[in-house]
Amino acid sequence: MSGVFNNFNDDTICAVATAMSDSGIGVIRVSGKDAVAICDKIYRSAKMEQTLKEHAPNTIKYGYVCDGEKIIDEVMISFMKAPHSFTREDVIEINSHGGVLIMNQIIELLLKSGCRLADPGEFTKRAFLNGRIDLTKAEAIMDIISAQNNFALDSSRNQLRGSIYDKVKSLREQIIYEMAFIESALDDPENYDLTGYPEKLKAKVSDLTSEIEKLLSTADEGKIRKDGIKTVIVGKPNAGKSSLLNTLIGDERAIVTDIAGTTRDIIEETVRLGDIVLHLIDTAGIRDTDDIIEKMGVDKAKSKIEEADLVLYILDSTRDIDDEDKEIISLCADKKTIILLNKNDLSDDIKINEDNVFKFFTNVDNVPVIKTSMLKGNGIDELKDALSKLFFNGDILPKQEIYITNLRHKELLQKVYDSLKLVDDSISKNLSEDFYTVDLSNAYAYLGEIIGEEVGDDLVEEIFSKFCMGK
Ligand code: GDP
Repeated sequence: MSGVFNNFNDDTICAVATAMSDSGIGVIRVSGKDAVAICDKIYRSAKMEQTLKEHAPNTIKYGYVCDGEKIIDEVMISFMKAPHSFTREDVIEINSHGGVLIMNQIIELLLKSGCRLADPGEFTKRAFLNGRIDLTKAEAIMDIISAQNNFALDSSRNQLRGSIYDKVKSLREQIIYEMAFIESALDDPENYDLTGYPEKLKAKVSDLTSEIEKLLSTADEGKIRKDGIKTVIVGKPNAGKSSLLNTLIGDERAIVTDIAGTTRDIIEETVRLGDIVLHLIDTAGIRDTDDIIEKMGVDKAKSKIEEADLVLYILDSTRDIDDEDKEIISLCADKKTIILLNKNDLSDDIKINEDNVFKFFTNVDNVPVIKTSMLKGNGIDELKDALSKLFFNGDILPKQEIYITNLRHKELLQKVYDSLKLVDDSISKNLSEDFYTVDLSNAYAYLGEIIGEEVGDDLVEEIFSKFCMGK
C-alpha cells in the first residue's frame, strides 16, 4: 500500500458491536495486541480457573466477566488469533446479555483494564490498514449494513466479494503493462521496438475506455436503484396529494421513515413499491396545509422540482385546469414526470382524461398519464409500471453484472476515463511516448485510489468516520 497512514496506532480498542438497546444478546468486540491480556483481567472460566491465554484460538468458551470478585455477567467469549480475524489482530468477542446497562458496565471494565473506546468504523479501518480488505470492500460493509432494498444489498454483497476490486485490479494490470513496456523500450531501445506500438496502444486504450464507459453508464441507474428516486408530489389544493401520500405510506408495501428537520419543517419519507424506492421530499408541506401550491408559490415549486428526480403531478380530474397548473407543469418539462388523473371514481364529473390532458399541457410530451382514485386505492400498480419504464427501461430486475453505486468510485472512474482519452489524444497527435506514460500513470493512480492503494489519511478518515460504532 503506497498511501501514508499516520493515523494507525496499536492501541487495543473495544466497542459494543450490536445495537445499544435492550436485546437478548449483546456483542462487545475487542481488537489489538493486548486483547487477550486485557480480557484476562476481567474473565473467569466456568470453573473460575482457566485464563483466556490457555484457550485455543478460534474457540468459544463459556465463562464470566468479573469485576474483582464480583460476577458482572455470564458470557460466551470467542477468541480469534491474529492474523485470522476480521482486523488481522487478536480479536475477542464477548457475548453478554444485551441490556444497555450491562454492556456499558463491561465496556467500563475493559476501559479500566487498558482498552481504548474504538472510533466509529475503527475495526473495519484496521481490517483495511492491515491489508485484509481493500477500500471498496470496506465501503461495501458499510453499504450492507445500511442497505434499504434488495438491490442495494445485492450490489454491496457483490462488491464485498470483490466485483469492483477485481475489475479495477484488472484495469490497472493492463495499464501498468503498457507503462512498463514504454519504460523498457525507452531505456533499452535495442531490445524493445516501439515501431507500430502507438497504433497497438491506441486500440488498447480504446478497449479500456469503452470498458470504463460501460461502468460509468451504470452509475445513474445504480444510484437510483440503491438510494431511491427523489420524488416530489405536486398539485393544486384538493387534488389529492395527501391522499396519495397516505396511500403510499399507509400501504402495507410501504416502509416509512420520518426525519423531522430541526431547522425547517421538512419531513422526508421513504416508500417502497416492490423493489422501487421513492424518497418523498418535503412532505411536510403536504401534511401541514392542503394548499401546497399557494403556500409554496411557483418559485418554491420550481426549486423542489429541480431537486427531484421525479415529479408526481396530481390533478383533480373533475376540475378544469387553470393557468397556474399550466405554469407549474411547464417547470417539469426537463424532469421525469408522471401525471396522475385523480378522483377517477367520480366518473360523471370527469373533465380531464388521457385524451384531452395534453391539450392543456402542450410542452410535456410522452409523459405517462395514469388514472387514479386515491379514495379506492386504484392506480398504484400502474404507477409502479410507469416508474419501472421511466427509470429502468421496464426492467424491474437489474440487468448489469456490476453497478457503480458509489459517488467516489464514479468520480474517480471519470478521471480515469479522461486520462485515457488524453493518451488517445497524444497518440493521434503523434506526440512522444513520454506523454503517454504521464496520462497512463495518472489513470493507474486514480484506479488505485478507488481500491485504496493510493490514498492518504484524510480520505481514509472521512470514509471510516461515516461508519457506525463497533463496526
Ligand atoms: P390535497 O389538498 O391535494 O392534499 O388533497 P387531499 O388528499 O386532502 O384530498 C382533498 C379531498 O379530496 C379530500 O376530501 C379527499 O378525501 C378527496 N379525495 C382525494 N382523492 C380522491 C379520489 O380519488 N376520489 C374522491 N372521490 N375523492 C378524493
